[in-house]
Amino acid sequence: MTAQLEFTHRPAQSPTPVARRQEILADAVFGRHFTDHMVTATWTPDRGWYDGAVVPYGPLNLDPAAAVLHFGQEILEGLKAYRHADGSIWMFRPDANAARFARSARRLALPELAVEDFVAALDRLVRIDRDWVPSGEGRSLYLRPFMFASEGYLQVRAARHVTFGVIASPAASYFGGQAARPVTLWLSEEYTRAAAGGTGAAKCGGNYAASLIAQREAIENGCDQVAFLDSVEGRWVEESGSMNLFVVYDDGRIVTPELTGTILEGITRDSILTLASEWGYAVEERRLDVNEWRTGLASGQIPEVFACGTAAVVTPIGMLRWRGGQLRVGHGDAGPVTARIRRHLLDLQEGRTPDTRGWLHRVC
Ligand SMILES: *Cc1c(COP(=O)(O)O)cnc(C)c1O
Repeated sequence: MTAQLEFTHRPAQSPTPVARRQEILADAVFGRHFTDHMVTATWTPDRGWYDGAVVPYGPLNLDPAAAVLHFGQEILEGLKAYRHADGSIWMFRPDANAARFARSARRLALPELAVEDFVAALDRLVRIDRDWVPSGEGRSLYLRPFMFASEGYLQVRAARHVTFGVIASPAASYFGGQAARPVTLWLSEEYTRAAAGGTGAAKCGGNYAASLIAQREAIENGCDQVAFLDSVEGRWVEESGSMNLFVVYDDGRIVTPELTGTILEGITRDSILTLASEWGYAVEERRLDVNEWRTGLASGQIPEVFACGTAAVVTPIGMLRWRGGQLRVGHGDAGPVTARIRRHLLDLQEGRTPDTRGWLHRVC
């Protein structure tokens, strides 16, 4: 796929006043406030991608028959822009997000967007809204690219009018820069997230829609997040609703469920696999039996469990709970391996440690 998008610019006439922006940045709740601009582009089979534009943030004009509202043909991405100490702004592996966006598009029968166009759209939005990129540890500008079927028609087929967009939201870290608060995982035994041949490996809204009831069950049971098992045997650990899972053994092995098409291929997951093997841990991507997990927690053979994803980086799991039981993980707080990985990723993304792997992309 070659780049084909050109972008026009229509800057906001009345951007957020500086004082108000500073107020928002000082207390950035994840996903609540948005910057002054957004990116949009359109696709049709005849023209390909066209009308790339950076425009003031605001409501979209949508046909009530738009296929996304009826058939859920939609995909999304999530990544961050970080301000380094010298004021420069960077993204972490945006080409990996672009490649995953293209894979998700293929699975949802949406048109692919070239990697260069995807990254260019993000660059443009971050540049025009650069004052919205906060500085300080654990703070960033969260970027949300998305694509959906905007054709108004009520037949079930792939849409012939598609909209791409990017919005941005300043974010404090989920947990501040310091030790992350351990969360409790709810083992979902009734609901699954994905099945073989389904959309589990695509980042699409439908996967989230299907997981909300399990997430609600987790909250009702005093937990923070869900852990999903496979849909056939209800035995193999898959992932959390929006994060991949890792378990750490007391002999230095680090295990994460292998990618079988039902697990989202997290970029944080991939980065951690790279780091951990460079550091000499025995890293295994394989099936993980939930009973092995429980036995390991009970015996202390598994002293650490953590979840990972762009939004919260690395989150320690302090407790695993299910209907009828629960087990504490280690001492219930972040263990040394979890803390080391979290620290290294934050230092890398925020520019305090050299990027030896070419993972950082400079925006401005
Ligand atoms: C986005 C996402 C992740 C994490 O992926 P990252 O690329 O690390 O942010 C994990 N699981 C699901 C279901 C996701 O949607």
